[in-house]
Amino acid sequence: MKKDIKNFSLDELKAYFTEIGEKSYRAEEIFRAIYNNKIFNFHDITTLPKTLRDALDNQFFITSSEVISKQKSSDSSIKFLIKFPDSSLVETVLIRETAHGKTRNTLCLSSQVGCAMKCKFCATGQMGFIRNLTTGEIIEQFLLVEKMAGKVNNIVFMGMGEPLANYENVKKAIKIITDPKGRGLGKRKIVISTSGIIDKIYKLADEISSVRLAISLHAATQKKRDYLMPGLRKYKISDLFEALKYYNRKTGNTITIEYLLIKDVNDDYKDAKDLIKLLRNLKFVKVNLIHFNQVAHIDFKPSNREKAFAEILRKNGVTVTIRHSKGEEIAAACGQLATNTKTSTKFPI
Ligand code: SF4
Repeated sequence: MKKDIKNFSLDELKAYFTEIGEKSYRAEEIFRAIYNNKIFNFHDITTLPKTLRDALDNQFFITSSEVISKQKSSDSSIKFLIKFPDSSLVETVLIRETAHGKTRNTLCLSSQVGCAMKCKFCATGQMGFIRNLTTGEIIEQFLLVEKMAGKVNNIVFMGMGEPLANYENVKKAIKIITDPKGRGLGKRKIVISTSGIIDKIYKLADEISSVRLAISLHAATQKKRDYLMPGLRKYKISDLFEALKYYNRKTGNTITIEYLLIKDVNDDYKDAKDLIKLLRNLKFVKVNLIHFNQVAHIDFKPSNREKAFAEILRKNGVTVTIRHSKGEEIAAACGQLATNTKTSTKFPI
């Protein structure tokens, strides 16, 4: 069975070439061809001798998936539905933002098919967990989008799945995408958004410290968080914040606290006060208040108290921004990703 060459780091590929009696610099040629030049067929990597191209083609593949639909929203976000050979489907969203005449592309990557955390407000959570994506499948989303829609400036692991529940594959995908001999995306251009897998936050701080971290908190008391995010019940908020302090000490990075405002669930004065109490004296956090996007079969409604909630936080010394979700009309916004093509509305691109 052919292997996915994108599961190999540069060092692993060099070791492989040495083992088969080839020059190890061939690995760098392949990295450049795939990650910089987006060549997805070994026969088109003409810097390699023909015999080597044939040998590679017999043993490896570069891409295996198919983009089965693309939808574009009026704010220029594009949602790609990607199908892998086992028929697993994931969604990947490109968010385009233009400011001062410059367009920046942020790619929201999926790390799992479905998710085990069962967050009550999230379409992916309603799917349940199906499987982890491999390193190669995570990278493939990035490569396909760059080939079809242009250079990606930032990556956020905020697509389908909990990235720290697939820690090793996500870590290796980051290593490969940031390798200076290949695509060389800066680590600081990558955000990992987690619901709070505590042991993996410590590992992340120790092992890939320069990426940025965002925590999906959504409630400031244990009782409310356990209700909204039942898959996280075993993780105590107090332990989570100890891990965040460690992450900050180790990396010096600011941490973003994501808080989805849901009408009559977590948006009243007491909720704001609980959040202030939790964040008191933590200079390294900033809060992103997120508009709740309507999801089919989920009864929650968006809050209309965003500004008032933000004002309470601000008056109490918390740094806060209100994030306006993009892609809501194509169900590509935060919490809306789920591979149910029946509910999709197609926009030609
Ligand atoms: S919000 Fe994140 S962690 Fe929670 S179910 Fe959705 S994808 Fe999983």
